[in-house]
Amino acid sequence: MRDYKIAAIPGDGIGIEVIDAGLEVLQAVAARDGGFQLTVERFPWGSDHYFETGGMMPDDGLETLKAFNTIYFGSAGDPRLPDHVSLWGLRLAICQPFDQYANVRPARLLPGIEGPLRDVGPDDLDWIIVRENTEGEYAGAGGRVHRGHAEEVGLDVSVFTRGGVERVQRFALELARTRPARHLTLVTKSNAQRHGMVMWDEVFEAIKGDYPEVETDKMLVDAMTTRMVLDPASIDIVVATNLHADVLSDLAAALSGSMGIAPTANLNPEGRFPSMFEPIHGSAFDIMGQGIANPIGAFWTASMMLEHLGEPGAAANLMAAIEQFTAEGTCMPRDLGGTASTRQVTDAVVAILEGRNA
Ligand code: ATP
Repeated sequence: MRDYKIAAIPGDGIGIEVIDAGLEVLQAVAARDGGFQLTVERFPWGSDHYFETGGMMPDDGLETLKAFNTIYFGSAGDPRLPDHVSLWGLRLAICQPFDQYANVRPARLLPGIEGPLRDVGPDDLDWIIVRENTEGEYAGAGGRVHRGHAEEVGLDVSVFTRGGVERVQRFALELARTRPARHLTLVTKSNAQRHGMVMWDEVFEAIKGDYPEVETDKMLVDAMTTRMVLDPASIDIVVATNLHADVLSDLAAALSGSMGIAPTANLNPEGRFPSMFEPIHGSAFDIMGQGIANPIGAFWTASMMLEHLGEPGAAANLMAAIEQFTAEGTCMPRDLGGTASTRQVTDAVVAILEGRNA
């Protein structure tokens, strides 16, 4: 039997609740498939670990993770800690050294879910946003001088490398090639930012001809927000920088119904390091511990993980179960207008997978 080793890092807040739920659902998919098994090891890294040891994860954490096929991640964030400490101490501390340069964020209006846009149905909102995930605005370059004085200066320097830009654009072009619409939109801000962003445009011009079957266009990021709201059906795949795609994908999640359903994959496409799969939402401390977090984002990201592991049949079964669940609409969690708990949503999806829901 095929055996996959999964490192589960639930992290903080509702990350712990939704990853627990996702692991249950994953075991149900594996049992239904029968052709593979998942060996899961949990790592209690995150903000509590920070308060106990001074680090969000152990010094040898990356070495430990290298032995796994994939990482299933919840969220990192705690009101007692500045966000940049929790983010750089765990999520970015894994994404960057593991060269997970393609952050893939699907957004789709699932059946039965009503988004905030009028007259927009499932066929009109079916996007994948590809976010550059290792450099750009989040490269960590910059500094502060004259701290606390009136003359203080804070610098965040965007770092774009030709190689880094080209590989993520090629990834997005390849992905566009596999979709029925075969359309890719390049998003930059090359009118106002005239160095790195112009390089993004130039690299795209230089390579897009290698993918003649993909139709392409270009937009400035501000205009893209308008297009997402006013003309969603014109969008298929989007590729953008770390910051721009971060913002656009939160908008995409909201337009597809809720932050609670959206998934994301941090891929090292060449497979030199494990890739990492996580729901798009954060630790949501306002609802933690209440058992009401929506686990669908964690389920959808689990489906992406199965696809990545080379189990497309199981991935499709899980996605079909999620869609059946939302289409039935009888057990929706609170963020989707219902009253169901994390437990009830999880039980309902497991029941569908086990064929017990009728
Ligand atoms: P971060 O950890 O990135 O700082 P956050 O905790 O500030 O994130 P998000 O998790 O991005 O915020 O979500 C914003 C709000 O949306 C949450 O405070 C919560 O009310 C709601 N929300 C997010 N995810 C879910 C979910 N899975 N189920 C229900 N509500 C959610």
